[in-house]
Amino acid sequence: MTSPNTIEARGLGRDYGVTRALEGLDLSVEAGSLVGILGPNGAGKTTALLMLATLLRPTRGSARVMGCDLISEASAIRRRLGLVFQEATIDGLLTVEENLRFAGRLAGLDGYSVKHAVNEVVQRIGLGPLRQRRASQLSGGWRRLTDIARATLHRPALLLLDEPTVGLDPEHRERMWSVLDAERRERGITVLFSTHYMAEAESADRVLLLSKGAVVEEGAPADLQRGVGVAVAEFEGPAGAAIEAALVREQLAATSMRTERGWRVGVREPQRVAQLVAEAPGGVTRFLLREATLEDVYFLRTR
Ligand code: ATP
Repeated sequence: MTSPNTIEARGLGRDYGVTRALEGLDLSVEAGSLVGILGPNGAGKTTALLMLATLLRPTRGSARVMGCDLISEASAIRRRLGLVFQEATIDGLLTVEENLRFAGRLAGLDGYSVKHAVNEVVQRIGLGPLRQRRASQLSGGWRRLTDIARATLHRPALLLLDEPTVGLDPEHRERMWSVLDAERRERGITVLFSTHYMAEAESADRVLLLSKGAVVEEGAPADLQRGVGVAVAEFEGPAGAAIEAALVREQLAATSMRTERGWRVGVREPQRVAQLVAEAPGGVTRFLLREATLEDVYFLRTR
């Protein structure tokens, strides 16, 4: 049966010699959704995206992307794909407009369509004032946004982005996400991106947490965060160990992690926890109650 999902991968894995870069990825990405692959350096994020982009042959497993088989129908997939990888692909010697026109021709658009598509994408991404500027003279942020313009010019159905916000300042990061949001809202494009900034993935529909080539957790960010606890208590100091033991004993701890300096406990009833900490003999040097984050989920699953 053909799945309506944009991506259906089963056991997709890759070895580089004896290095197991990716164990076996099971992934279903619904059309129009925003899905994040999270993990630290070396987790296997780039390997997963390169395989789904048909640029790296899997060692094992299979996948269908936009209904096509990853191996036997790779060229059909490529035509409907937009890629933004870590290295900028625009040519520094060409202007922004020349880069975009060139990308349009490479994507197989005719002269009229290229002109129309370039005008549209320049407008959409706000590249108007930089149109005649040489790409080598752009700031890192605008280079990355030009890269996104290049990748979306031919109106792909699926956009794959590998750590698209690395090195961007908050303003360009914000602009990049709003461009991607608009792409999804207005054209229903599916977006799969990787990042090692956990907070950035909190607005995704679903996230996959990768560690050492294996998926350690998967789901909607809010569900994963709820799994940590209603809130997270961070504390350190002389009474730390006794407080942690009391939270477990009183069944106030949903999850618990020892950190470098103290404890991070996912708790059930924040007010009772605050009271217990305030009354603990010996006291604490630091105490904080906050919402659970994806970073907590990640620490829990990988420590
Ligand atoms: P980063 O955030 O640093 O880009 P990543 O999560 O994208 O990391 P990958 O680049 O997919 O991780 O790498 C996964 C593992 O595969 C790492 O151990 C890496 O060293 C190894 N690896 C990646 N590419 C190659 C290669 N061409 N040859 C040998 N090993 C490789």
